[in-house]
Amino acid sequence: MPEVKQHKILLEESELPTRWYNVLHDLPTPPPPVLHPGTGQPVGPEDLAPLFPMALIEQEVSTAQYVDIPPEVLDVYRLWRPSPLFRAHRLEAALQTPARIYYKYEGVSPAGSHKPNTAVPQAYYNKQAGISKLTTETGAGQWGTSLAFACAQYDMECEIWQVRASYDQKPYRKMMIETFGGTVHPSPSDLTEAGRAILAADPDSTGSLGIAISEAVEVAAQDPTVNYALGSVLNHVLLHQTIIGEEALLQLAKVGETPDLLVGCTGGGSNFGGLMFPFLRERWAGRMDPVVRAVEPSACPSLTQGTYAYDFGDTAGMTPLMKMHTLGHDFVPDPIHSGGLRYHGMSPLISHLYETDEIEAVAKQQTECFAAGVLFARTEGIVPAPEPTHALAAAVEEAIRCRETGEDKVILTALCGHGHLDLPAYAAYLEGSVTDTSWDDSELQAAVAQALTRLPQLA
Ligand SMILES: *Cc1c(COP(=O)(O)O)cnc(C)c1O
Repeated sequence: MPEVKQHKILLEESELPTRWYNVLHDLPTPPPPVLHPGTGQPVGPEDLAPLFPMALIEQEVSTAQYVDIPPEVLDVYRLWRPSPLFRAHRLEAALQTPARIYYKYEGVSPAGSHKPNTAVPQAYYNKQAGISKLTTETGAGQWGTSLAFACAQYDMECEIWQVRASYDQKPYRKMMIETFGGTVHPSPSDLTEAGRAILAADPDSTGSLGIAISEAVEVAAQDPTVNYALGSVLNHVLLHQTIIGEEALLQLAKVGETPDLLVGCTGGGSNFGGLMFPFLRERWAGRMDPVVRAVEPSACPSLTQGTYAYDFGDTAGMTPLMKMHTLGHDFVPDPIHSGGLRYHGMSPLISHLYETDEIEAVAKQQTECFAAGVLFARTEGIVPAPEPTHALAAAVEEAIRCRETGEDKVILTALCGHGHLDLPAYAAYLEGSVTDTSWDDSELQAAVAQALTRLPQLA
């Protein structure tokens, strides 16, 4: 009789964690403040109040160790949470590695990724504050889908500006957003001043995330019943995502495992922070000592090749200034298939952890990532979103290293979404038309330096 292997490590609904973990409480050194671009002073709650409800502004700056998850949010979470942790036995066998590989799967959510973990509480706190509509931008459409679903839970309207190029090329995300009750406009649109200005200059503009942010922010700022929501980067977003890591800790404890290596992909840093922060807490408390590694695309290498400096969060320069690893707010990455990883900056929290050597980072080429994604699909039966194939490529690399050294390391990776709406990217890879890109270090640094000279002078 073959050995009976346990593939899924599940938690009961009753074991769902009821608090988010706030890493700001335990950071060995505090991160630099977010600055007002006009005054150069730290932003206060009044600066953020036109766009965000006070509960989220408080979470953005809170140093309390835990935040209780409201029962109304837990009730929606329980539609798909706790999410499964899997042991990748079949991937391990294919790699002939003594390493034990685990993956925490967020593809079971309504949007097929981790993003509803923050969309739901953001909609909830806005509803509590009397807001009737949320606006946002979306690129490939993951965030728009998540926010449309979240707004439907609390009977709110959701209006989304989707980058024109994605709107035309990826119709399924738009259909999903509309099915959840959201409204989608291609950006640039003629509904906002920002959009009209772009269209006047270039009627065929294919748009950018920066332009879409400007349109969504403009509409929210003008109407006191409308707020804006952001799907990554900010502290409160990473806070909400820690539900992933809290569950994973309980699940690994059930099988008596302690991780030696944690790997996750980083776009703005939210799925990565969400899995890693609770494990960092355990490390700082001396209960485990895992290496924590961020994996980014070589085509958009904000941690490994970017500059740690104050920069705008958007292309148009409307947001506060955040100290982060940045490629410059006007950086336009080559059109790689991992839409969610094409952001010029990085969460200030993740940037600070990298700067203080609490985490490592590596960059991966997309052909290596797709190869790992295809191997994973064929062994474990899940087609991963292109973004988490970056983390999978790093997990595979480490597992192969273990095969050579004979080490039986425990590797945990974040499988933050499935790729069912990204199949054209796999088709492109399988027919051989996916190519790799790298940036010359000195050219990149010069471009970032140039972009940063256009910032307001800080006091
Ligand atoms: C949005 C997205 C990302 C990138 O965002 P992070 O904030 O870095 O997590 C990665 N993977 C998937 C599946 C996404 O939808």
